[in-house]
Amino acid sequence: MLKDRILNEILPCVEKPARYIGNELNSVHKQYMDGMVRFVFAFPDIYEIGMSHLGIKILYHLLNEREDTVCERVFAPWVDMEKIMRKEGIPLFSLESMTPVRDFDFVGFTLQYEMSYTNILNMLDLAGIPINAAERSESSPLVIAGGPCAYNPEPLAQFVDFFVMGEGEEVINEIIDTYKDCKDKGLSRKEILHCMAHIDGVYVPSLYIMTYNEDGTVKNVKPVDVDLPLKIKKRVIKDMNNSYYPEKMIVPYLQTVHDRIMLEIFRGCTRGCRFCQAGMIYRPVRERSWENLLELARKLVSSTGYDEISLVSLSSCDYTFLEELIYSLIDEFKGKGVGISLPSLRIDAAYVDIFNKIEEVRKSGITFAPEAGSQRLRDVINKNVTEEDLMNAVFSAFKFGWRTIKLYFMIGLPTETDEDLDGIAELGERVLQVYKEVNGNLKGLTVTMSASSFVPKPHTPFQWEAQDSMEELYRKQLLIKSKIRGHALRFTYHDVRLSFLEAVISRGDRRVSMVIKKAWEKGCRFDSWNECFNFETWMDAFKETGIDPAFYANRKREENEVFPWDHIDVGVTKEFLKRERRRAYEGKSTFDCRKFCIKCGIQDFEEGLKCYGQN
Ligand code: SF4
Repeated sequence: MLKDRILNEILPCVEKPARYIGNELNSVHKQYMDGMVRFVFAFPDIYEIGMSHLGIKILYHLLNEREDTVCERVFAPWVDMEKIMRKEGIPLFSLESMTPVRDFDFVGFTLQYEMSYTNILNMLDLAGIPINAAERSESSPLVIAGGPCAYNPEPLAQFVDFFVMGEGEEVINEIIDTYKDCKDKGLSRKEILHCMAHIDGVYVPSLYIMTYNEDGTVKNVKPVDVDLPLKIKKRVIKDMNNSYYPEKMIVPYLQTVHDRIMLEIFRGCTRGCRFCQAGMIYRPVRERSWENLLELARKLVSSTGYDEISLVSLSSCDYTFLEELIYSLIDEFKGKGVGISLPSLRIDAAYVDIFNKIEEVRKSGITFAPEAGSQRLRDVINKNVTEEDLMNAVFSAFKFGWRTIKLYFMIGLPTETDEDLDGIAELGERVLQVYKEVNGNLKGLTVTMSASSFVPKPHTPFQWEAQDSMEELYRKQLLIKSKIRGHALRFTYHDVRLSFLEAVISRGDRRVSMVIKKAWEKGCRFDSWNECFNFETWMDAFKETGIDPAFYANRKREENEVFPWDHIDVGVTKEFLKRERRRAYEGKSTFDCRKFCIKCGIQDFEEGLKCYGQN
């Protein structure tokens, strides 16, 4: 039996067997019976990363609450496990029942990061499911995908049967009901896909044709039938307080990246940073009430035994009732050994004060994200903070006793000059001065300045921009490095080659799928892991498929160019994005729309959908 072989012969030979065993507290083990729908969530990275993902935690329990559905999990096997699985002919299996993944009705991938795409192909191959959607048989599972990267689905169009746009809680039950209905009627796979394509938010790429102009740009994307929608609208939860949130969460045996209760306080973000895809695709802002969150926190602490609650969202310090929530959580859990944590990115002295209440003892480190070194460039990207805001926040942090500060920056931003880059080092120097003012010397201080490279992402005001060439990004990294002095300042930067590939894939059309497939065939997987990443192999894959990566990454787009993702409607209009881009070039910032609505488009997206700024 497969389960016995896995437990007795395979797992004793791998590095971390707990990655593949399941059986954690609050995992759900259901007996499969005839007529039930089998769904497996597939996370294209290792267990420790996947188990930190909030979306899976929500949808796993939501689906398992249905009596007619069994929902299990599978993660990408690490290289040692893959080797032994291939050698011993063990197919990819689910954690809960150790059932081969190919026996499920649905395999649902979450797309969090483009550099995990080769893992998707690898997992399908290990499962014995044909890589190409067109080659799957009636008995193959439906391979589906959702998550932020699905908002440009085209680079994976060849491999995925259908994509889900928007918030899974809103649509997953309709998908399961439709599937059951189709099965009851005895419909074929092709007919099932047609039915799925009529669910709002579902995109079946095989039912759409992409054509190209002579210069290689996209001409259009059209459905094959007149009754299919021209645009696929994302699905959005209207009322967070009435939306599903699990009262139990799986407690892993292994240390995961976020090994604590994740309490999602709101969705969306109103700050409008012009480089930020999440800030555009997750609009509008919808908050849970603090009373609702307190009740959820009580239930989650009692069902998991965790001693830490993390308040998560895109910008948690912006939550309207942050003080009420934090003080009520502190009241509720004081003396019970349960701590609160908050990602510390808001540059505001008042919020440092709140942080101090939370981290009274630990003071583990505080993070700010000025993103750019000069006020001019911060206005271009719409990062509405001044140097004074930053220094006031840093001053408060030092006063309260913090000694470790992290500052996040981005390089390669539109209109950036060397003076803007000099500003990064100068900001570091100013932080040192502030520390000296507070403490008299630099003893104990560590300031880590970290620079990632700008990737012009779909559905943002900068989607028309070119990414700097890799040579230029290397030069910029070295320039900053040469200006940063003193042992208290550390400078770290991201691998430029990864940012380059991320730009190619995130902006890719259907032809990019050939490169992903070729790279996987040549051995690429776990591309975001240093020990596995092989840039040369990716470059060979581009050469062999005749695809020019610079066409996707380093080319500035004409304003009227059709994008591979134009048929996906995220609610924010192209007119708004163009307006914001023009304002960027004029150096004009735009209000945070918590103050008033700046008409991004989501206000007219769907009846009954209310955004924060419209209240
Ligand atoms: S609808 Fe208005 S308030 Fe809401 S995100 Fe868009 S611009 Fe901001």
